Amino acid sequence: MKDMPCPCDSRLKYAQCCGPLHQSFADHDLLSAPDAQALMRSRYSAYTLDLLDYLLASWHPDTRPSSLAPNEPGLRWLGLQLKKHVQQDAEHASVEFVARSKLGGRAQRLHEISRFIRVDGAWLYLDGEVS
Ligand SMILES: [Zn+2]
Repeated sequence: MKDMPCPCDSRLKYAQCCGPLHQSFADHDLLSAPDAQALMRSRYSAYTLDLLDYLLASWHPDTRPSSLAPNEPGLRWLGLQLKKHVQQDAEHASVEFVARSKLGGRAQRLHEISRFIRVDGAWLYLDGEVS
């Protein structure tokens, strides 16, 4: 798993990209993404790996769902394309991305502008606008 390419399409290995962010949460309950873009990547990777605790923990409490379902059987995540990262100030940022997946032969494309907010030093996903 450590040597695999990172699911977030960064062209880095998982162990040099989203892996350490997932690990610091698993080991120390710590969200350590340095910016919203890194958190976005790590959340995409968490979706592909069914790391539901990481997804919930990195979701702002005001908008966080009470639970998340694992990936449907047969769902394949095909990749992430980051389009834009705008940091408004020290606590607010947005990330525009396209995530692609495939289920039962049908391709799905999610194009979203996500808003992130930093609380007590940790970047959290707030909400998103799907276009
Ligand atoms: Zn990654």
